Amino acid sequence: MENCLFCKIVNGTLPAHIVYSDETLTAFKDIHPQAPVHILIIPKQHVDNLAGISKEMTPVISRIPEVATVLAKEYGIDKTGFRLLTNSGSDGGQTVYHLHFHLMGGKPLGPKLVKD
Ligand code: AMP
Ligand code: ZN
Repeated sequence: MENCLFCKIVNGTLPAHIVYSDETLTAFKDIHPQAPVHILIIPKQHVDNLAGISKEMTPVISRIPEVATVLAKEYGIDKTGFRLLTNSGSDGGQTVYHLHFHLMGGKPLGPKLVKD
């Protein structure tokens, strides 16, 4: 999709530190890491967020936890623990409108992300 930051990463016109790629998913380091390990996992096909996924895309999205676990092992956070989350829409705190899952770990992340 034109003007989508993460589509540009997928098609190689915007540089990123890619850590995983297969036919339908890719993962790269977050540019402003919130934890020692902070990786974004995205479908290569553009979709705004969870609310936009089609039935056809469901099998692709369903593989994200599996890829997260592979990466968690690779980055040595599988034993200490990690968080996998997606922000959907404005109340969800989404800022980049290409579906992405944050994989974070490497320090205690606390019980929740919402600040009272
Ligand atoms: P969200 O607020 O859930 O939409 O998360 C968007 C994430 O994308 C933030 O954690 C940003 O730091 C990250 N981000 C924005 N631009 C880039 C980029 N060019 N490369 C890597 N991560 C990015
Ligand atoms: Zn996109």
